[in-house]
Amino acid sequence: MPNLRLTPQNIASMYEHARDTFPHEACGVIIGRRGESFSVEVVKCANIQQAMKEKYPEQFVRGADTGYFMDPRDVRNAFDLAAKKKVEVIGFYHSHPDHDAYWSEEDHRAAMWAGTDEPSFPDASHVVVSIYKGRVKEGAVFVWNQELGVFEKEATLEGE
Ligand SMILES: [Zn+2]
Repeated sequence: MPNLRLTPQNIASMYEHARDTFPHEACGVIIGRRGESFSVEVVKCANIQQAMKEKYPEQFVRGADTGYFMDPRDVRNAFDLAAKKKVEVIGFYHSHPDHDAYWSEEDHRAAMWAGTDEPSFPDASHVVVSIYKGRVKEGAVFVWNQELGVFEKEATLEGE
């Protein structure tokens, strides 16, 4: 089902966000209509992982350099914006500072309803941006394969 269609501007916007937050992870929501790239928008969200780690050190082991926790207010705004524009939340993105654009165990865990093997957004596409030393190497799009019960790479996005 997925097949996320992104415009060069959408990709540039995610790459810019990854550069701005480097060496911390950038994260955000992708809204629009699947297959209609002109309707797609990238909504940047604040990564509050560091604050969460300071508040709840036992639950949040990772810092913002290897983890992200989207500010719930930003996520809510993204959903509100999608509703207002009569489009949907069709994806999420985050960056991997000084790491490749792979789907990590942590990414798998974060994409599931807590403690289950059911993805919270089975139709969403997940973009991972690899950025080394502040320069984007490449991006990758991952989608849920219901039959196999895993996230698979659907596409690679050229770096800069
Ligand atoms: Zn990740």
